Amino acid sequence: MSKGTLFDKVWDLHTVGTLPSGQTQLFIGLHLIHEVTSPQAFAMLRERKIKVLYPERTVATVDHIVPTENQARPFADSLAEEMIQALEKNTEENNIRFFNTHSGNQGIVHVIAPEQGLTQPGMTIACGDSHTSTHGAFGAIAFGIGTSQVRDVLASQTLSLTKLKVRKIEVNGDLAPGVYAKDVILHIIRKLGVKGGVGYAYEYSGTTFEKMSMEERMTLCNMSIEGGARCGYVNPDDVTYNYLKDKDFAPKGEKWEEAIKWWNSLRSDEDAEYDDVVTFSASDIEPTVTWGITPGQGIGISESLPILDELSESDREIALQAFEYMQLQPGESLKGTPIDVCFVGSCTNGRISDLREAAKFAKGHKVAQNVKAFIVPGSERVKQQAEAEGLHNIFINAGFEWREPGCSMCLAMNPDKLQGSQISASSSNRNFKGRQGSAQGRTLLMSPAMVVAAAINGKVADVRDLEVN
Ligand code: SF4
Repeated sequence: MSKGTLFDKVWDLHTVGTLPSGQTQLFIGLHLIHEVTSPQAFAMLRERKIKVLYPERTVATVDHIVPTENQARPFADSLAEEMIQALEKNTEENNIRFFNTHSGNQGIVHVIAPEQGLTQPGMTIACGDSHTSTHGAFGAIAFGIGTSQVRDVLASQTLSLTKLKVRKIEVNGDLAPGVYAKDVILHIIRKLGVKGGVGYAYEYSGTTFEKMSMEERMTLCNMSIEGGARCGYVNPDDVTYNYLKDKDFAPKGEKWEEAIKWWNSLRSDEDAEYDDVVTFSASDIEPTVTWGITPGQGIGISESLPILDELSESDREIALQAFEYMQLQPGESLKGTPIDVCFVGSCTNGRISDLREAAKFAKGHKVAQNVKAFIVPGSERVKQQAEAEGLHNIFINAGFEWREPGCSMCLAMNPDKLQGSQISASSSNRNFKGRQGSAQGRTLLMSPAMVVAAAINGKVADVRDLEVN
C-alpha cells in the first residue's frame, strides 16, 4: 500500500517490467562485488559464455579475507591468496573497476562505495553481502543478494524481486551523551525483533535521524537487515549532499545542481502512505549491549538480564539457548562481565567518525591487562585519515593494536579469530554462535565508545562513567 514514499518512487523508476510470476524485473544501478560471493557467479557466466552486460556499473573490492597484520602478497593463507587472485582475474577479464589492496581505495565494500561517492540517492544498489542495506543512508534502495543473483546482475543488470512493504520508523528527540546510532538501531531491533522487518523496507524518519551525520545514518541502515528488513533508508537532505559534494564519483558542476533537484524530488511525500508506522523516543535509549546470540537480545547498560518467566514463550526458548551459550545468568547485570577481546571495526562502525569517537575515550587510558584490543579501519582512506589526525598514536599508546583495513573479526574469514570460548566486546553487527571465528566464541555487540570502555575496564562498562582526557 506504500504510496508516495522514496521506496515507491525509486522502485517504480527502476522497474523494467512485471514478470509472469508477478515479480518485478528491477534495474540495478550499481553492483558492488567482493571476493567471497563473486567467483562462482563469474564461473557460471563463463560456463554459459555470457559477458558482463554493463561492466561500468560494477565495482569490486577485497575485504573479507584480507589479513590485517601483514598484507604483503602472496598472503600467508593460500586460500585467501587464491580468492584474491580469482577476483583479480575476473575483474581484469571483464573490464571491471577493482580497488585492490595498496590502491589507496581498498576497504570494506560498504565503506568504500560511500566514501568515494559511488553511492548516491535514488539508486538501486545490490551486492552479494547482507549489509548492503548500509547504502540506504543516502536514500538509495540497497540490498544484499545471493551468488546466483550476483550472476543475474552481472549478466542482465537486473533482478527479479517481490516489492517490499514500507514501515516508517520514527525516532524523535536528542540522543543523550554516550548514546550513538549503534544504540538506536540495537534498541529498534530489540523492540521490533530480528524478524519484525521481514517483507519490509524500513524508512527512518524523525528529528533524531535528521540530526545524524551520514556516517551515523550508515551505521543505522547497516543493521536494518539484522531486524529482518531487506533494506532501510533515510530520505536525502542537506546532510547527504554536503557529504557527497566533491567526492570522486559524485556529479560535478551543473550536473551537481541538477542532481540535487532530482534527489529532492525523490524524498517521501508529506502525505505518503505507509504500510506501518512505529514511533520511538530518543530519550528512552541508553548505551545498549547485546547479551545473547541474536542482535535482538540487547539491553540498556543499566538494566539487568531478562528473567525467563517475564519473556514470551517464543523469546524464552531462544533466551534459554543464549544463556547457556553465553554462560550468563538471568537477572544478573551485564555490566562487570569480564572481556577477553575488544574489536573496533567492521562496515557498521569502522569509519573515521567511529575511530574519532573511540580515540576520544581511549586517550590517556590503558587497555586492561589480559585484554587483547585492536582497531581495524574500514578502508585505506579511513586509515590514512586517522593517521593524519594522530588517532593511531592515541590507540597505540593506550595499548590497542593498530591494523590494516578489512572485515577482520566481524566475520573472522582472516586470521583475526576468537579462541575457544573467549568473549568479545565488538562494534560489529552479528553475535551469532561462532560468528567471530571460534565455534564457542561469544560476542557482545555495542558502540565503538562502549568497546573502548570495555577494553579499559577489562569488563563490560558504561562509557558514560569513563573519564575523558
Ligand atoms: S564488515 Fe562484516 S558485515 Fe560488513 S561486509 Fe565485512 S564481514 Fe560483512
